[in-house]
This record gives sequence, C-alpha cells and structure tokens, in this order.
Amino acid sequence: MGIVERSVMADQTDTRRYLTEFDSARTGHILTDVLVIGSGVAGLRAAIEASRFGRVTLTTKRTLDESSTSLAQGGIAAVWGVGDSPDRHFQDTLRTGAGLCKPEAVRKLVDQGPARVDELIAWGMEFDHQGESIQLTTEGGHSVPRVLHAGGDSTGRALINTLSRKARSTANLRILESCFVIDLLTVEDRCVGAVTHHANYGHQIIWSNQTILAGGGCGRLFRETTNPPTATGDSLAMAYRAGALLADLEMVQFHPTTLYVAGAARTLISEAVRGEGAYLVDGDGFRFMQEAHPDAELAPRDIVSRAIRRRMTETKSNCVYLDARHFPSGQFEARFPGITELCRSFQIDPTRDLIPVRPTAHYMIGGVVTDSDAATTLKGLFCCGEAACSGLHGANRLASNSLLEGLVFGATAGETAGQRATQEDATVGPTRVRHEIPSSTRTELDLLDIANSLRSLMWRNVGIARRGDRLDETREIIEFWNHYVFDKVFSEVDGWEVQNMLTLGRLMAAAARERSFSLGVHYRVDAPEDQDPPPTPEHTAVRRADGVMVQGWLDQSLAPLRD
Ligand SMILES: Cc1cc2nc3c(=O)[nH]c(=O)nc-3n(C[C@H](O)[C@H](O)[C@H](O)COP(=O)(O)OP(=O)(O)OC[C@H]3O[C@@H](n4cnc5c(N)ncnc54)[C@H](O)[C@@H]3O)c2cc1C
Repeated sequence: MGIVERSVMADQTDTRRYLTEFDSARTGHILTDVLVIGSGVAGLRAAIEASRFGRVTLTTKRTLDESSTSLAQGGIAAVWGVGDSPDRHFQDTLRTGAGLCKPEAVRKLVDQGPARVDELIAWGMEFDHQGESIQLTTEGGHSVPRVLHAGGDSTGRALINTLSRKARSTANLRILESCFVIDLLTVEDRCVGAVTHHANYGHQIIWSNQTILAGGGCGRLFRETTNPPTATGDSLAMAYRAGALLADLEMVQFHPTTLYVAGAARTLISEAVRGEGAYLVDGDGFRFMQEAHPDAELAPRDIVSRAIRRRMTETKSNCVYLDARHFPSGQFEARFPGITELCRSFQIDPTRDLIPVRPTAHYMIGGVVTDSDAATTLKGLFCCGEAACSGLHGANRLASNSLLEGLVFGATAGETAGQRATQEDATVGPTRVRHEIPSSTRTELDLLDIANSLRSLMWRNVGIARRGDRLDETREIIEFWNHYVFDKVFSEVDGWEVQNMLTLGRLMAAAARERSFSLGVHYRVDAPEDQDPPPTPEHTAVRRADGVMVQGWLDQSLAPLRD
C-alpha cells in the first residue's frame, strides 16, 4: 500500500533494518506454521484459534502473565444486558471515536462481542453476578450498563488465567517464555518469522509461514503511565523497521484517574469507580466536571483528562481527587477489593478519605495498519490488539472496548493466519540471511538515563497538551540521542527496548506535528480554539521505505488518499 507523499530526512532509526547482528547459518532454528508474538489477550486468543489449523509457537518476553491485559480492572464491554443492542454499542463507539472510526471494524467488534464472551464462560471464566445475572457497570461514553467484570476489579487477571489455561491445554501450541523478539525477519518483502533472544538459549531464528504481532502498547515511553514494564512499543518499532504501514501514532489515550502519591509508581484507579458513582473534586471539594461536560464524570476520557489538567493548573495543584465517601457502607470495598487494598497501602481509606488522582498515558490507539482480516501491509504479517490500528477506536477509545478488541480481532488474526499458513504453497524454510552492523568505538551508554530522559521529554512535550514548536524540538532531541544509541549493538533486552522506544518516540512526535489541529485524544494548544477539523476524516500514516521515513495520510477506511 502506498501512502507516500513526503519523505523526511533519515536518521539511524530509518537506516538500521535490524537491531542485532545475526547469521542464519550459525543460529539455532525453530520452524512453525504460525508464530504469535505476545501473551496478552490478543496473542493468547490468536494462538488458540490458529492452533486449530497447524503448529503454533507463542513467544513472550517475560512470563505468560506479564502484560497490560493482566492489569485490566474495569472489565470487558459487550452487548449483554436487556435494553442494549449491537447498534447502541456501535453508536457509542463511533461517537467516542470523534469521527475517525472505521465503521466496518466497529461493526465486527459489536456483532462478535457476545459470542467471544460466551466462549470465555465456556472456558471457565467467572464473571461477577448480581443474583442470577451477570453484573454490568456503566463507564464513560456508554449509554447503558455494558461492562462485564470479574473478581470486582481484577478482570484482566481472571481473563489471563482463563486464556492461559486454555492455551496450555491446547494441542499444537508451544509457549516460549523469556523469549524476546528483536526483529521481524523479512526475505524479499515477505515476513518469514523473527529473530529472537531467549534468556537461556540466546539468539534463535523462528521461521514461520505466517506471523501474528500482538506485542501490545507503548505507555512506558511516558514518565507517567498505567502500563507495565513490558509496554515499550517493541511491536510498533519492529513493524516500522520491517516496512509495514503504521497509522495514527499521535493518538495516545490518557487515563484521567491514576493514583497520585509522590514518588510511588502510578497505578490505575478504574473508570468503573466513577461509573459506580464517585465524583471528581478539586482541593476545595468543588465538583468541576459538572460545568465541564453534560455527562460530568462520565464524559469521554479525553475530555475528563483535559478538564483535570486545566483544574490542576488553575488551582496550582499536583492532583485532583476522587470522592467515594458517599457510597453505602461496605459497597466500595466489595466492588473494588484491589483498589481498596492499593489505597490502604498508602494509608488512604476510600470510605473516609479523598483519593488523589491525575491523568497518565494509558492506551495506544494508533499502530500497525490492519484490514478486516487483521492482515498488515507486509505479506505474511498479521497484527491484533493494542499494537494494531484497525480503525476501531478512531480518535478516542471507548472505555473497556480493548479487551473485547483483543478477543475479537485476536480470533480473526488466528483464524486467517492459520488458514493461510497451511494453504499457501510457499511454506517458509530456512534460507541464508545475515546482518552485520559496523562496529563503533563511541562512548559507553547509561541506558537507564536515556530511557528516563526520553520518558520525561515525551511526557512534557507529547503528553496531554501539545505544541508544534515543542514537537519539533522533541524530534531534534531524539535524533541527537539516536546518533549514539543506534551505533551500538546491544546484547541484552534493555538495550533493544530503549532503541525501540527512541524509534517510536520520534515517529509519535512527527505524527503529532503532522496533525496540526485537535481531534479526540490529540490536543494541540497552538491550534485556534474555533478551528474545525477537516470535514473528511483522515489518518496520519508513516512507513520506512528505502532507509527513509515517509509520512502521509490515509482516508477513513485506512486506504491511501493518493498513490
Ligand atoms: C492498568 C490497565 C488497566 C486497563 N483496564 C482495562 C479494562 O478494564 N478494560 C479494557 O478493555 N482495557 C483495559 N486496559 C487496556 C487493555 O488492558 C489493553 O489495551 C489490552 O490488554 C492489550 O492487550 P494486548 O494483548 O494487545 O497487549 P498486552 O496485554 O500488553 O500484551 C502484550 C504482550 O506482548 C509481549 N511482548 C511485548 N513486546 C515483546 C517482544 N519484543 N517480544 C516478545 N514479547 C513481547 C508482552 O510481554 C505481553 O505479553 C487497561 C490497561 C492497563 C494498563
């Protein structure tokens, strides 16, 4: 697919095809029909489906249960209750997406959602009940209660337990933990597997007929985030190096309410807390969301995050507060046992105290462009979950739609990749591939220092509010760092992760610069207040071609505007 309108001067992240040196003649091999990268909801669901057709290998860089999925609290949005319908879920998703959703992707999600939930129940997942019925919660942007949850606020943990159990008992499915994928391997513009590094076995090449990328998001690029350490954007960076098309990288969703205790790691306080009736107040107890939006605390996330930021500036404060003190006795603790425990570990009792919160980076809406089969623009490569840009979320994600996305599009990716892997004549076998990187004598690096500096830079300049000049400056600073990070050849995961973060940070700053007006989660303070977005929705797009970065625009269906 060609978007291509403008090339930008190359830096090392464009010229470097692989992050590591390898020679297939001297490296261990694994052969599989389908390779799945990632063990969150999308990767596990894809692997289970693909194994109906052939041999599947699933790799994950840490353990099976370390992912954003494991941390999910609020739940899974799906049409379930009386009075709800796929059309309502469709409309709510489109409205939140600020005009940029791809309707076919949304239709697929809302239509297939209930069947995917039924399947989880059949595999042993126990959702919370109220009497005989599954209990449903309302979250921001949903017009009816629609969010199913488990263990109160540990839906993600229950989901991963269910899918892992199913995966481990599935024939044909091999799971490799501590197996970091460094790069997708391509031969003649087709993905043929991946170059990996296993904690015990070192470098290996996994040759696959079809590959499914499900490596999740990139919240760790920001100083303030809800995301786990695994979310360093590896999938997006490796897809870029391999030449796949990426879109909407400026669209990062900031979650309004993360526990703010100075010096402590940021931890999410689920939207369901507001869904169950908690208020947002400032230090004087003023409920500021009532004047910010008709839906008050349940307005879409971008609106709540910006209103909080504004209130923090006006009151010169580091945070605002969630007030749940009016909940009936025992209700908060029963519904949110994990959040109660978290708060208490900081001597905050939600039944008596206000909970200090502020927004942080939460979800990557953009990603690797996929079609309705979850296929990317690179032959042999599929993508699903948070790493993908199917157009489902448009310019803002409806709360709790992403676990469902992982289930629906994971199953699609697994089915299509599985079918193609066994049907295609050209099964992939090892061929000679080598990559060498000229050695450098430049200075040693303090990787942690670079990672922390990048996170601070991204938070300051590519955070909730953005300005063109700061975005330009961000790119310049990252390109300067790239000079001495990309002439190194690392032999450990930390180094490759930092290289991926720098690659993606630059692409995100460039995309945010390109979209010069505010839309959904992307807020440009330097755009005139009264400026309307262009009438036709368009997606920013980028890819690496011939060692340079090429930027352009795609239409609402994620097809090229010009060729
Ligand atoms: C705190 C929190 C709460 C959330 N709550 C909700 C909620 O209630 N409802 C909802 O719908 N959404 C929620 N979300 C969002 C949702 O959890 C994620 O968008 C979704 O789980 C992403 O699933 P995934 O499978 O795409 O990625 P992940 O779950 O992040 O999984 C990615 C996997 O890829 C692996 N990986 C990454 N890079 C590599 C590599 N180089 N090599 C090998 N493996 C790699 C990771 O280790 C991980 O196993 C929440 C997110 C967070 C962070």
